[in-house]
Amino acid sequence: MTLNNELFTKHLQGMVQFPTVSSVDPDKINKQAFLDFHKYLEETYPLVHKTFDKAIVGRVGLLYHWKGTGKSKSLPLLLTAHQDVVPEGDHSMWKYPPYVGTLDEDGILWGRGVTDSKCNIQAYMDALELLIADGFVPDYDLYLAFGYNEEIMGGPEAAAGLIVEELKRRNVDLGLVIDECGGIGEINGKPVATIFPCEKGYGDFEFTMEDKGGHAASPGKHSSLGIIGKTACILEEKLFPQTLTEPVIKEFKARAPFTEGPLGMMYADPEKYWDMLKLICAEDRQLNALTRTTTSVTMAKGSDQANILPEKSSLIINTRLLPGETLDNMMKYFESIVPEGVKVRLVKGHNPPAVSSTESEGYKTIVKVVEEKYPGITFIPSMLTGGTDSRFYCDICSTKSVYRFTGMRHTSKTGGAHQVNEHIDTSIIADNVDFYIRLLLAYGK
Ligand SMILES: [Zn+2]
Repeated sequence: MTLNNELFTKHLQGMVQFPTVSSVDPDKINKQAFLDFHKYLEETYPLVHKTFDKAIVGRVGLLYHWKGTGKSKSLPLLLTAHQDVVPEGDHSMWKYPPYVGTLDEDGILWGRGVTDSKCNIQAYMDALELLIADGFVPDYDLYLAFGYNEEIMGGPEAAAGLIVEELKRRNVDLGLVIDECGGIGEINGKPVATIFPCEKGYGDFEFTMEDKGGHAASPGKHSSLGIIGKTACILEEKLFPQTLTEPVIKEFKARAPFTEGPLGMMYADPEKYWDMLKLICAEDRQLNALTRTTTSVTMAKGSDQANILPEKSSLIINTRLLPGETLDNMMKYFESIVPEGVKVRLVKGHNPPAVSSTESEGYKTIVKVVEEKYPGITFIPSMLTGGTDSRFYCDICSTKSVYRFTGMRHTSKTGGAHQVNEHIDTSIIADNVDFYIRLLLAYGK
């Protein structure tokens, strides 16, 4: 089997030419861009499209299924990624136009979605196209699922949720799910693989205060906005407690050999040194996010005019829940700390999905395949502080094997996800395809 990096690059270059931007209002998505993208996939990967059954789920979600020989006892494998991209922002700030797919002379490919996450769709598809040409037939059932609103956390019609509904209808229980994030990197010159077996939950809460309003020339002691401002201060003072969760203990222990000095010692036995370690974590944004259910005050509104006392003022906070925390519990906590009269409402959110195992067959298969390719590599199981579509699949994966991991090698030449000038170092594309080929061959053995 020949891995043709130039051809893979050309395929990815083609994918970024479709402006598949997601929108909070499902009616506002550019449906044609997605349909054109589907057509491009059909033309670029004829063997995949001849072999798999394809269904459109929701508006433009894609669900592919290949029934295996059934010789393996393993439950089905599902590879997921999202077709949608975040808006490209200011065109004038892009070095090359966002939807052209310019390959510069240093082998860098520029365009919205090259890293997040069309490179995964491309790698899955190229791996399968080569395997099929080579006569491969899986002994397990294989699914590919590509949603269209991951970048807006699903919004009112989460494609991944609809795909999971469809899989439930078909009585599917998954054995292994692979989604975006993670990959191969380096710490102090040594290779490491970051796998995310879990991610935090999400909640937007609104706090409102009503008041009789009136002319700003004759105010009372506090306006409703003043009380909402006080609420913001309370929320920033009365934080959720720092907690050491199982996934983070595992992550700290894995990082210990790469961390020098007293911090390395504390990472090696985080429970023993927790009293000291938590002070360090509280001062570092990333470590704080790993050890706390976070609450960020992000939006506020009072009156529309300077000389009018607001009749209603409001504040929105964005929260990220540690495994074990629930939205219900948070609601009760907020109600107990806000000033009298302030009402709390959950605008939207979801509890943290189940934490996946680091002992499962699926996890071991990933480890085996990666070690084969990168001997001596260290694995760092980690908690994702953001969110992905993969959370929906936790509901139909009895083996607790949902991992956010790609075969992507991260180099300093790749970057710009969610920013202008998103770009990828194309020299790593063949390695990504190679990872999925190895995984598909090794799973279910
Ligand atoms: Zn993404």
